[in-house]
Amino acid sequence: MAAFLEAKDERKILHVDLDAFYAQVEMRDNPALKKVPLLIGRDPAFHHGHGVVATANYRARQLGVHSAMGAIEAKKLAPNAVFVAPDFPKYRSISAQIHEIFAEFTTVIEPVALDEAYLDVTAHPLSAPAIAAQLRQRIFQETALTCSVGVSYNKVLAKLGSEHHKPNGVTVIGPAVAERFLAQLPIAEFRGVGKKAQEKLTAMGVATGADLRKISQDDLRAAFGSFGDQLYWQARGTHFGQVKDHRVRQSVGKENTFELPLRDRAAVAAAFKDVAEKVVAVMKDKGFLGRTLTVKVRDDHYQTATRSITQRTYFALEPDFLARQAQPIFDDLYPEDDFAIRLLGLTFSNVSDQASQPISLFENEN
Ligand SMILES: [Mg+2]
Repeated sequence: MAAFLEAKDERKILHVDLDAFYAQVEMRDNPALKKVPLLIGRDPAFHHGHGVVATANYRARQLGVHSAMGAIEAKKLAPNAVFVAPDFPKYRSISAQIHEIFAEFTTVIEPVALDEAYLDVTAHPLSAPAIAAQLRQRIFQETALTCSVGVSYNKVLAKLGSEHHKPNGVTVIGPAVAERFLAQLPIAEFRGVGKKAQEKLTAMGVATGADLRKISQDDLRAAFGSFGDQLYWQARGTHFGQVKDHRVRQSVGKENTFELPLRDRAAVAAAFKDVAEKVVAVMKDKGFLGRTLTVKVRDDHYQTATRSITQRTYFALEPDFLARQAQPIFDDLYPEDDFAIRLLGLTFSNVSDQASQPISLFENEN
């Protein structure tokens, strides 16, 4: 085991995923829909053949329909299927209800989609499997909806766990069973392995996690770049990614100070670019995106000015682009050429994690 777990990880992580969420909600609210293949999406017969399936119930899935499939194709596979248009305000309010239940167990909650989240319950006195059981019971009591939960010591294994017994199941992957669980796992089920990677791995003789563990880190890196490292550690059940609590609004800022004050616009522009590069590096490292950019300028007289721009969408994390956003603000503050600048700063606020960007309709909807 020591060789398997490279470092001891004693966290308690849950991955909670509502089963066929939109479809389950509609079946709950109209039980007649339980008896038919149900597709959440617009009926192509009334929408010029356009549209896709957001979610299918399990009856429809048995006929081969899946999320993000074109509505026409789905109708061919399931000619008797009933289409129900999605009701996002309803799904969002149920999602909020479920998040209130999460908050009964932990403050460390990372939403992935309306129906899916990671919870770090390390601080909770009960065992992780007991928490999973209580959580499922509470969700069912409050919403009459079922979910699948993966329980483990890291996020990757917790996610693999929730997928393992779907629908309405719990899979506990503790340190004692992680090695065996990963060894038998088909390579396609490892995180991030798409069709291309799967083909490449198959050519390398890798069909399961056990096969993957036989490939050296160097060989994986040569074949896949940094994703090769991820595969190497995934096969060993090691992943130290934290459950990120998006409710904590952070800001990320950098400042440069100048012993010799900047006296011309070209120097200011170059300095903005330098600061932007530093901020961008931190933002990228943390996986953050920001909608508000604050420019800070201090001059030789210790006059400090700050000005903010807020966009509806996230700023592109490109130093040149950000420096170009800052420059007109500076020019506005100092229209004359007689300035002497001691400090320039750029700060992102309204920051959020990339995973909490506006949720795509089809993202991991299972
Ligand atoms: Mg789901």
